[in-house]
Amino acid sequence: MLEKLAELERVARQLEPDQGEREGMLDEVRDYAESFLTQLPTARAFTNDEGRSGFSNAPIDEAPTELITLLEFYKREVDTTGLNTTSSGQLGYIPGGGLFPSALGDYLADISNRYSGVSFAGPGAAEMELSLVGWMCRLVGYPDSAGGDLTSGGSMATLSALVTARDACNIGPGEIPTACVYLTGQAHHCIEKALQIAGLKDIRKRFVPMDERYRMDVTELQQLIDTDRDQGLKPWLVVASAGTTDTGAVDPIPEIARVAKQHDLWFHLDAAYGGFFLLCEEGRERLHGLNQADSIVLDPHKGLSLPYGSGAVLIKDVRLLAESNTYYADYMQDAKHPDSDPGAVSSPSDLSLELTRPFRGPRMWFPLKLFGLMPFRASLAEKIWLARYFHQELSKIEGFETGPDPDLSIVTYRYLPKGGDANAFNKRLLEAVLADGRIFITSTMIAGKYTLRLAVLNFRTHRETIDYLLELLQRKARELDNT
Ligand SMILES: *Cc1c(COP(=O)(O)O)cnc(C)c1O
Repeated sequence: MLEKLAELERVARQLEPDQGEREGMLDEVRDYAESFLTQLPTARAFTNDEGRSGFSNAPIDEAPTELITLLEFYKREVDTTGLNTTSSGQLGYIPGGGLFPSALGDYLADISNRYSGVSFAGPGAAEMELSLVGWMCRLVGYPDSAGGDLTSGGSMATLSALVTARDACNIGPGEIPTACVYLTGQAHHCIEKALQIAGLKDIRKRFVPMDERYRMDVTELQQLIDTDRDQGLKPWLVVASAGTTDTGAVDPIPEIARVAKQHDLWFHLDAAYGGFFLLCEEGRERLHGLNQADSIVLDPHKGLSLPYGSGAVLIKDVRLLAESNTYYADYMQDAKHPDSDPGAVSSPSDLSLELTRPFRGPRMWFPLKLFGLMPFRASLAEKIWLARYFHQELSKIEGFETGPDPDLSIVTYRYLPKGGDANAFNKRLLEAVLADGRIFITSTMIAGKYTLRLAVLNFRTHRETIDYLLELLQRKARELDNT
């Protein structure tokens, strides 16, 4: 048996590289990362995946592989194909980031692998997460009774919020046939997805008409609720957006809050895209009354430019979040006593859909502390001004039609060709921009019209990139319009 153990130990120890080996690996990874970052300013924002051979050519098997070989493979198969979310030219969907100190935070979190789910196991780790949640609660103007959870993203945060709303309002099988949810056609699809996962697929969804700027029409909301009430139905939930994905529109939050309060509805606010604009004056002018919502979703991997995997759910009365998520099991008896104060929130896992979870604190805490808030505020204000600048400059170029003045940092626009189908033309224009490679933009359908979108949020995007896009759009539109 001792021989067997010795033999197994000898092989198992390969999982622990020694200090010299670790330094060698770090050097190689650092070289890779530095080369990625130094080439970023001229790198493509979008690349078709032509050069890929695929992961089936690199099966997981017994054979070890040199790190340098793996990094070459990683670069070819992963890092140089598709959307480059770290690029200043990523102006599609809702941009990403990849703040450098977040990578260092992730590195440290993974090295020591602190358990952030349970305070007993990782008191400092849990406190770091709860303090970040507390900072976001204060940012939106919530009272001390609020709390929340760091999630993997906005969709998971939305699921957690709507499950809490369901439980808090006792929406069970008996209520589903009569309960009503109010939202607009511009609400993010994760709302309906969350309702479905929460067992509420068959609940009545009322799509509230919007004004000409794609904001919820509160008079229509009021009327829908009245009609439903008259018919014996039970208005339950209203969902508003603080910045829609498609057009960046901010719903009239204080007015919706008033209606929600009057009819005793749960008010959920999707601030995944727009919420962090509260950090700058220009954003605060557009974002009023967020603290009126019962639940709010924020996405640090959007507005704070954190790497993906960083969302947040905030609940105005944190006890409701705890009620939906606190469980006790015998194997947890060392961490938490079943008779301990049931109302006291002690651990992030009591507020989370997850038990064991990634330690998400450091990727957010290090950059916020290292840089301080000032550069974040400036970057977000800059994004609002860049969107206004793009809107203004594009309006001056003949042939382009721009959507409404941007509420935040999303602008919609299209080109009106001399002849032919405008939808098909704008699709070709988008393809021409993508073929150039430096800029990634996307499109959407607005009232049946194929519409181009600019979404600026990445901390790396500055005026130079917007000027490049303006010139590119003008040149490509001319070329296409004259052929
Ligand atoms: C991105 C986004 C979501 C979904 O968040 P994920 O982090 O992608 O899961 C929800 N709502 C809005 C308004 C968004 O922009």
